[in-house]
Amino acid sequence: MLRTLATISHIEYSPSQEVTFVRCVPEHRFTFEEGQFLMVESVFNHAELGKPLKKPYSIATTNKELQEKGTVGFIVKKTMDGYMSDFLTKGITIGTKIVLTWPAGHMTDDGTNKKYLFVSTGSGISPMVGLYNELSLNSENKIVNIFGERHHRHILPSVETLFSRNDDHVENILFLSQDEHTLYRSGHVQLWLDEALRSLGEADITVFVCGSPLMVDDIRQMLTERWFTKDQIKYEKY
Ligand SMILES: Cc1cc2nc3c(=O)[nH]c(=O)nc-3n(C[C@H](O)[C@H](O)[C@H](O)COP(=O)(O)OP(=O)(O)OC[C@H]3O[C@@H](n4cnc5c(N)ncnc54)[C@H](O)[C@@H]3O)c2cc1C
Repeated sequence: MLRTLATISHIEYSPSQEVTFVRCVPEHRFTFEEGQFLMVESVFNHAELGKPLKKPYSIATTNKELQEKGTVGFIVKKTMDGYMSDFLTKGITIGTKIVLTWPAGHMTDDGTNKKYLFVSTGSGISPMVGLYNELSLNSENKIVNIFGERHHRHILPSVETLFSRNDDHVENILFLSQDEHTLYRSGHVQLWLDEALRSLGEADITVFVCGSPLMVDDIRQMLTERWFTKDQIKYEKY
């Protein structure tokens, strides 16, 4: 099992400062598959807990970036009264050390299909960014990416740019549930499911779903009520 010290090298903030895209440089190089997660640990004992902070975070970057540039990253959304998400949104600066272990997780592409449906909300965006960047490189792939957030102030500028592409291979459908904005539809990600399936052409689709347990279970149920098998639906609940 990998266990390595890493140094934070880039931090991007959402306008609310409650979402960060944190990149770091691990001392020991490793490989991973997009969609996997790492255990992230503080190097200090938390004052109240008396032990290091330690939580899993999905990797939002690609294995190619790690091999070529030496950086790996994850997107963190602050949870109310949460210790680790507070540290990773407010307590870090460039140069802060963290410890990474694993990678682990099975929300990865097995190459069976060339059509992909991504559905994510909130911090569930993190693995989707890595999967999206990797899978959209292959011009044979077709991706429909549905992402939902409550407020526009929680959207990272780099993610808004990344998810602005719309052409024959990639379709981005973005929702805000509690704000209005010209680039976004109003409502919840579930609203676009049937439209996405029509656009992808029904058969041979791999689905990645990530976000709150309620949303993930809802999407899984909607998909199995249509024609999807369990193997086609890969998911992570936070
Ligand atoms: C596989 C996986 C991947 C993940 N990837 C990401 C990711 O990419 N990005 C991301 O932002 N998150 C991700 N998460 C979630 C992440 O691991 C943390 O759970 C999240 O950041 C909150 O951690 P925290 O320490 O800030 O909050 P916690 O300190 O765990 O607190 C969370 C909430 O629970 C409450 N709480 C804590 N302890 C108790 C208690 N004893 N009794 C009652 N209430 C309590 C707190 O008040 C708070 O509201 C992932 C989770 C999993 C399982």
